[in-house]
Amino acid sequence: MGLRRSLYKTPAQLRGMVEPGLITADALDAVRALVAPGVTTEELDAAASALITSRGAESNFQLVRGYRHTTCISVNDEVVHGIPGERVLAAGDIVSIDAGAQFRGWNGDSAITIVVPDAERPDVVAARQRLSEVTEGSLWAGIAALASARRVGEIGDAVQGYIERAAAADGVEYGILRDYVGHGIGRKMHEGPTVFNYRVPDLGPEVRPGLCLAIEPMVTSGSDETFVEDDDWTVTTVDGSDGCHWEHSVAVHDGGIWVLTAHDGGAAGLAPYGVIPAPIA
Ligand code: MG
Ligand code: MG
Repeated sequence: MGLRRSLYKTPAQLRGMVEPGLITADALDAVRALVAPGVTTEELDAAASALITSRGAESNFQLVRGYRHTTCISVNDEVVHGIPGERVLAAGDIVSIDAGAQFRGWNGDSAITIVVPDAERPDVVAARQRLSEVTEGSLWAGIAALASARRVGEIGDAVQGYIERAAAADGVEYGILRDYVGHGIGRKMHEGPTVFNYRVPDLGPEVRPGLCLAIEPMVTSGSDETFVEDDDWTVTTVDGSDGCHWEHSVAVHDGGIWVLTAHDGGAAGLAPYGVIPAPIA
C-alpha cells in the first residue's frame, strides 16, 4: 500500500504555496497586458513563459504529459484547453487564459478571461463581457462559500446557484461544464479532491485548515455540451456558444482563507460577501 498524500497541508507547507501563487498571478498579468487585436496566442504564451522562468519557477502545464506549452488559451467557442499557436486575436474575441507555476515543489493554477475591445460590435462585446462577469462572479461565490463551508461540495452549490440567478436575471441560458472540474493543488497541480462547479449529492471531504483547492468554473452562453477538437486538447461548445473560464487557487488555514493567485488575497472579490481574507502566517 502506498502512502496517501494528505488533503490537509501543514502550516509550513501552506507557506510553500504562497510564492507559486504569486508567480502564477504575475504570469497572467503579463499576458493581460498584451491582449490586443493582431497578437497571436503563442505570443501570449511566450510572455507567460518568460515571466515564470524569470522568477526561477517552471510551467507546471509543461509537466502535464503530452503538453508543451505554458498556458492554455481558449478563444470564443473554445472553453478550456486551447493550445497556443498561430491564431491571431481579433477585435471582439473572448479569450480565456489558464496558467500555472511550480516553485520549489509547490504549485499555483489560475485562469482569467479578457474580451478584446471592438468599437464596431458593441453588442457582441457587451454579451461576452457579461459572460465573463457572470463566470468570475460564480468563482467568487464559490470562494466565499469555501470560507464557511463544512464540506467541499458546498462550493459547487454556490457556483451553480450564482449562475442560475444570473441566467434568470439576464433572461438567457448559461451552461456549466460538467465534464471538467476543479481540484486540489499542492505538490502537484492536479490533486484530490474533485471540486465540482455544480450541485452533487455527496458533499465530499471536510473543509479544514490545510486544504488547498483550485476552483474553476467553466461556463458557456448556451448549452453545456462540448467536444474535444482533433488536436486532442481544445474543448469547444457543440452549439457554437461562447465559453469562459476563471480560476483561482485558494488555501484554507487556521486564520481563514487566502486566495493564493490574487495579489490582494481575494479581498476585492470577497468584499461583497463580507469575507475578509487572512494572509498565511
Ligand atoms: Mg488552470
Ligand atoms: Mg486547474
